[in-house]
Formats: sequence, C-alpha cells, structure tokens
Amino acid sequence: MSDGQTSAPCEFKHFKIAVLEEGILLAGFDYFGKPVNVLNVESMSEWQKIVRYAEQSAAIKAIVLVSVKEGNFCAGADLEQMHEAQRQRSFQEMEQLVITAHTLFDEMERSPKPFVAAVEGACLGGGLELALACHARMASTHPKTCFALPEVKLGILPGFGGTQRLPRLIGLPAALDMITTGKTLFPRQALRIGLVDGMATSLPSTVRTLGKIQQETLVQAAIAQARVLCSGPIRRAPLRASLRFLSGPVIRTFVCRYARRQVIKRVRHFYPAPLRAIDAVGKGMGLSILEGSLTVEKPLLLELMAGPISSHLVGLFLAGEKVKRTCAIAPAAVTRVGVLGAGLMGSQIAGQLAEKGYEVILRDVSSDILANAVGRIHKAQTTQVRKRIILASDLRYRMMRVTPTIHIKDVNLAALVIEAVSEKLDVKRAVLAEFESAAHPDAIFATNTSSYTLADIAARAVHPERCVGLHFFNPVAKMQLVEVVHAPFTSDRALAQACSLAKRLGKFPLVVSDGPGFLVNRILSRYLAEAVIMVGEGISFRRIDAVAKNFGMAVDSGHPMGPLELLDLIGLPVALHVLASLAVLGSRIESRDALLRDFLPEKKPPLTFWKSEQENPEALDAVANYRRANPSETGPISDDILHQRLFLPMVDEAVRCLHDKIVEHPWQVDFALTYGIGFPAFRGGLLTWARQTMTQGQVAQELESLAVKYGKRFEPCPGLSNGGW
Ligand code: NAD
Repeated sequence: MSDGQTSAPCEFKHFKIAVLEEGILLAGFDYFGKPVNVLNVESMSEWQKIVRYAEQSAAIKAIVLVSVKEGNFCAGADLEQMHEAQRQRSFQEMEQLVITAHTLFDEMERSPKPFVAAVEGACLGGGLELALACHARMASTHPKTCFALPEVKLGILPGFGGTQRLPRLIGLPAALDMITTGKTLFPRQALRIGLVDGMATSLPSTVRTLGKIQQETLVQAAIAQARVLCSGPIRRAPLRASLRFLSGPVIRTFVCRYARRQVIKRVRHFYPAPLRAIDAVGKGMGLSILEGSLTVEKPLLLELMAGPISSHLVGLFLAGEKVKRTCAIAPAAVTRVGVLGAGLMGSQIAGQLAEKGYEVILRDVSSDILANAVGRIHKAQTTQVRKRIILASDLRYRMMRVTPTIHIKDVNLAALVIEAVSEKLDVKRAVLAEFESAAHPDAIFATNTSSYTLADIAARAVHPERCVGLHFFNPVAKMQLVEVVHAPFTSDRALAQACSLAKRLGKFPLVVSDGPGFLVNRILSRYLAEAVIMVGEGISFRRIDAVAKNFGMAVDSGHPMGPLELLDLIGLPVALHVLASLAVLGSRIESRDALLRDFLPEKKPPLTFWKSEQENPEALDAVANYRRANPSETGPISDDILHQRLFLPMVDEAVRCLHDKIVEHPWQVDFALTYGIGFPAFRGGLLTWARQTMTQGQVAQELESLAVKYGKRFEPCPGLSNGGW
C-alpha cells in the first residue's frame, strides 16, 4: 500500500480496500477465482459490509469503487448461479439477491457520503446498475471500456434497479433504447448522453495492486470528483429540459408505446423481455426508485427468469463461455498475420485483425484489387469514428497496420497466414504451395474455405501438420462464430494458434473435425437445398421465406430472413458451389441444376429471388420455364409440412454430424447453428428445439412419412430414434 493510507477494517475475499488521505475509501473489486467480477450473494454481502463500514466511520468522507481486474469493471450478476436456479426451478436465493441489491443500492444513493465509480473495462448488466447507484461515474479510454444492460439478450430485464435509475439519469428515450436492445455504448458515447460524468486516459498498470491502481489517471480523476462532491450537499445534475418533457407523465405513455412498436418490429412477439422492460420503466417512473424496483421491476424479473426463453438464452450464453474456455490456447501470441486474397472475406478478416492490433500483410494478385480492399476496410472503420467508438487517430493506426502487397514473399514475416482466395481447389492448392515455399518454416496455414475439406486442400502439402481451417462467416464483424477445423494431420500447435487468434478477435472458436461442409454448412445445406426444391414445385418465394421467418429464423440479428433471402445474401454461385461439394454426402442433397441454370445467365449477374423486397419477376419467369419443362404435381401443401420439410432434415443432418464426430456434443450443434446461421436463440438451438417439441421416435417417424411422400432424401439416419442427442 502507498503512503497516506490507514489500515483496512478487515480482509475481504472479493474486495481490496484502503483508506486514503482526506478520508477517501478506495474499494477494489477483485472477484476471487474468476477472470471477471460478478455480483452474487457472496460478493454482494461483502460490498454491503464495505458500504455500511463507510457510512458508519466518521473518518471516511467518500468512496471510490474501482476494479482490480484489467479490462473488466464488473460483468454483472453471476449467470452460472442464475442458470443453476433455472435448472433447479428454485428462485429464492435469486430473489434474496435482488432484494439485497435494491436496498443496498438505495442506501448508497441516499448516503450523504458520495460514491464514485471509476470504470475501466466492461461495465455490464448488474455492474452498470451498481455504477448507476453511485453519485458519479468516471470512464477510462481503455479499449475494453464499455457500458450495456444486455439483460434482454438473456431473456430477462435489468433487475438491480436499472429500469428505474437509467431513465432518470439519461432520459426516457435513450434509456429505453439501451434497455430494450441491450446495445453497447463506448466511453465517448456514454459521456455524450450523460451516462458518465467524465473521461480519463487509460494507462493501466501492469501490476494490479490497489496501491498501483491508485496512481492511475482514472482513479485520480475519480478521487478528484469525490472531493468535489464532498464539498457540498450531493446534487444530481438535472435532466435537460427536452428530456424532462419526454419523461413527463403524459408524454411517457407515448414514448413507451413507440418503444413497444420498435421492439415488435425488430423481434416480433418472440421475446417477452424487452416488452416487460418497457412496462417496468413506464410504471416505475411514477414511483420512488426503491418502490419501483421492488414492486414493479422485481416481479417482472422473476417471472421472466422462470420462463423457458431465459433458460435457453442463458444456456447458450454459458455454452459460448465454455467454447472460449475449453479451446486450446497457444503459449506465444502471434502478432503478424498474412491474409491471402483481398476479396469479400479477405478484406473483412484483414480489417478485423488490424482492429484488434495485429500487423496484417494483405496479399492479392493485383494492385487494383488491393486498393479496393483497403478502401473497404477504411470505410468500415470510418463508421466507428462516426459513431464515436474510436478516434480518427485510432483509425489511422489501424490502417497503418495493414500492408497490401502483390508479392507472396512478403508474408514470410507472418507467423500465421489465413487463406481467403477464390473458392477453386487448384487455386487454393497453388496458394498453399506458394506459402510453403515463401513463408517462415514454422508459420501456420489457415484456410477459410467453405466447401472443400481441409484434407482436399492439404493433399499435396509438404507439411500438412501446419494446415488448419479458420472458417469465418459473412459479415465477419457481426458473426461471432468461427469454425476451427482440424484434420487428423493438423498439429496441436496449429490448432492452438488458430483458436487463440479467433479468440483474440472476440469470436467463439468452435473446434470441429474435418469433413464436407464442416458442421454449419453441412446442416445448412439441407435447409437451403429443400427451399430450392420447393421453388421448383411452384411454391411461392414469399410463402417459403414466411414459414422460416414465422419460426424466428435470423430474428436475433434484427433482420428475420428465410432460406431464399439467405441464398440471395450468400450469392447463388457460392451457395451452389457449396451444395455441389456436399453431393459426396449422397442422395440427401438433391440438386435442381436445371432450375438454377436459368438463375445464372451468361455474362450477367446471377438472378436473385428477391428484388427491392418483391419477388423478382425475372426469377419468377425462370421458375415458370423450369416448371413447363419439368411439370410436377405435389397437391396442396400445408405450412406445417413446409416447416417440417425445412427443419427436420437439419435435425437429421445434425445427428449424422454427431455420429461422424464432427463435434462431440449436442450443445455444440445448438450453439453453432444459433451463432452461425441465426437459428432462433429463444428456441435454445436446433437439437434442444427438436427434443422439446417431439420425442426422438417422432422425429424419425415424421421423416419417414416425408420420405414416402417426397423422396428418399428424407430417410432418417439409422439411430436417429435411439437417443444420444
Ligand atoms: P472473392 O472472390 O471475393 O475473393 C477472392 C480473392 O482471392 C479475389 O480478390 C482474388 O483476386 C483473390 N485471389 C485469387 N487467387 C489468388 C492468389 N493466388 N493469391 C492471392 N489472392 C488471390 O471470394 P470471397 O467471397 O472473399 O471468398 C474467399 C474464401 O472465403 C473462399 O474460400 C470462400 O469459400 C470463403 N468464404 C466465403 C464466404 C462468403 O460469404 N463469401 C463465407 C465464408 C467463407
């Protein structure tokens, strides 16, 4: 401890405390045994003791709350504890935690001694609600500093008073936006809307002791703020007049109604949490914060927590944590990465790498292609400057990290090279051969192929052990899943380097075995191929997509999407290439080449199913031509059958993937499809949905009846009805 401190009252397991000069109590949150700070019964009761000690001690004039962990202020409530309560269906402990939080946060707020939160790193959920109960918040510019109330993404609402305090601090419209979307704000955005009172440059100490942290600019700024607040009665800055007007008793009904409409437009009625959150905010505004928290927010929270949707969403969240925790990690981090191919995917991957601090050597065959790619990277990053996420200087540093080149020899300094060249086997093999001759002998080769197997690509490699798959999804910045593909010849070192890189990019590195389509595209192809067959039967594009959207496909992305819209997004040529490469799986993937040939006119861009949100007349003509040449009569068909035809083959393929050991566990399938193709998260994942809707025997039976009526492609895999998934 540094000079000027008196001894702490006692030792805590999750906090370190010190009393500084002028009676400032510095409390450092450092949850024992976890990489992030969480609020649960244990840590909350320690914080309660600290608050009470500060209130009772005449020597203490103000309290500054800081995190000892670098990059994390507080991640919020302990979700493992919550999921356990959901599994046991026993919520008494959670309810007690909520009541403790409400009374404790109310005590802090009413305390004559100011509380100041010095926020560096992620300040999420309950962590932000804790900071909201403080009298002031200072934020550091650390790249990980961010603020969010992401509870709706877990099927619940902010339950530690967030629905009551946030609108009073930043006004009703901004609070509803944050609460109903769970969106993340970065320090400059937070300062602009009044969520934080000031910002300090981040210079985090590498040695994380309270004595060292105390010297940091952020903590010094928080201490200065505490001194100012000590100098007179504590007053909250009033809301701007316009915001006061929008939060007033008459107008707030309309503001809440508008927020409801926005939610329904975005997620339809699939998710109750954002709508309940609006109720909590709207009703609570007429009450005191404590009353609103206990009588409005708490009952709604407990109702949501006990429902199946929250249990599914929390389960998927914890699955993501498990994916990150259990993947192999390389001991030495890579700093320089080569990207071969500066097309759609290569440029996005290079942009993400530069954003996360990697030096990138971006190689393509011509300077024009490279110039376009650099332009696209610049454009994507400029959006972040416009949204006040980063400064213009950050943008310049990011762009300086990308070195475009047409010479393969320039990748020789990269420890890992990602191949994102055109999807042609001979091109990929040639690029791998070039890599082997030019790159550092220890460098790893990671392919982003979406239709070949790793074994196909590495068939002629001199050192196949250096080859691994890093299958990113498009758009790279948004899609959180990355399939890390290993073949029997892939070395542990290559796998660990690939996983570490994906993790550092903030992705979920799901390790899958090599095989056609890996995991996600293999299952997805059954869905897309069936949609194309339906088109050939004359079923309208609108109806096919509506069946999938009514089920919730891609609703979590904010853009519900059916299979034909997805085919348009992927691009028909790419999708067909993937489907063709999966023909090795046998008769389950039936192609409709004759139909799709008309969709790919020579020397013209491929046709899309949709054009300006209408069924594309040219595509309709192509279908009519096909149907004249290939008349088929399937008779009237219900939406239920269309639904079964789209989704049951996916279940069948998922079970086959488990049998083939592409992944080991059903939860990995659920996780991959939710984060890879937008299977609706509220259903808990593909296999969870199937298990909860019907028995395994019923799934097999339904597929058998589809096979009788529509063809062999529906025949269920042996063992589908015997469990194991
Ligand atoms: P693209 O056609 O947009 O880009 C490919 C780039 O590779 C082109 O710029 C081309 O000039 C370049 N190239 C060709 N030969 C090269 C060589 N010898 N050295 C360096 N560059 C070379 O393709 P894309 O959509 O970016 O796809 C790239 C890879 O990513 C493919 O393997 C594809 O299957 C995979 N992928 C694509 C998507 C998607 O949605 N498009 C999604 C996941 C994975």
